[in-house]
Amino acid sequence: MTMELPVVNHEDYFAKIGDDHKFPINKFGELANYLIKNKVVTKFYKPYACSFETLKYAHSENYISNIKNKSLDKEGIKKIGFPLVDSVVKRSFIATGGTVLAAKLAIHCGIACNTAGGSHHANFFGGSGYCVFNDIAVATKYLLNRGLARRVLLLDLDVHQGNGSADIFKDDKNVFTFSMHSKSNYPAKKSKSDLDVELKDNMEDKEYIEILKINLKILNQEKFDFIFYIAGVDVHYNDRLGTLKISDEGIKLRDELIIQNFFNNKIPLCGVLGGGYNKDFNKLVELHSILHKTCAKYI
Ligand SMILES: [Zn+2]
Repeated sequence: MTMELPVVNHEDYFAKIGDDHKFPINKFGELANYLIKNKVVTKFYKPYACSFETLKYAHSENYISNIKNKSLDKEGIKKIGFPLVDSVVKRSFIATGGTVLAAKLAIHCGIACNTAGGSHHANFFGGSGYCVFNDIAVATKYLLNRGLARRVLLLDLDVHQGNGSADIFKDDKNVFTFSMHSKSNYPAKKSKSDLDVELKDNMEDKEYIEILKINLKILNQEKFDFIFYIAGVDVHYNDRLGTLKISDEGIKLRDELIIQNFFNNKIPLCGVLGGGYNKDFNKLVELHSILHKTCAKYI
């Protein structure tokens, strides 16, 4: 009997940010429908809202309270880019709980995914760039603090730099932050990850995959016992924000390389969405599903 890939989803991943908002918030619900319809999974694991105690591992008490009570100042809200309304508050706590749950499932099953997550721009003091809480940082601290992992790799292939994660873990030897991103994309002022790979505009599949392979070799020389994979699809050529030119096939090959590599090395992997702002909404959902489809092949 083959095991079904554990995938975490909650209907509250959707939030009311306004129909004309630049962020494609509908993708979370549509991705869940797509995964069921295409028989990638038959059910979802439902997360709880992340607790205050667990969030405190990666965020200041003051910031968490300001989100919970919707009392964050205008400047802070503007940096995040979402209106601070009830559904956004709810989604921020539940999506973070989702990545914590997916990480626990990955420990038990070898691979697991969230249908949200990868809020890598949020740091200890606040959010930015459509990221409220850094779910990956919270889940990483959760695993370390509970002795469920000893050395964690944050493998961030979103087109934007994982600056929030780099900041949170800059002095933490138990967490290795890797970010491969477009040099010209947000944030303009990059933080320092343990390993940053900056890509030039308009890069295509062949060069992208070659660079990835070289860096996988480097990463394989380090010892990790848990991987968070931020599988951003904003590297796609038709993305509204990303400046790279990666095709559907390039993203498939990328995910295959990553997931196969760590599966062969028997290291538990938790996959989270990361960004995606494709001009074609149906294509966006399909691109995000590549992560789950590829993970489902290896479990
Ligand atoms: Zn991104």
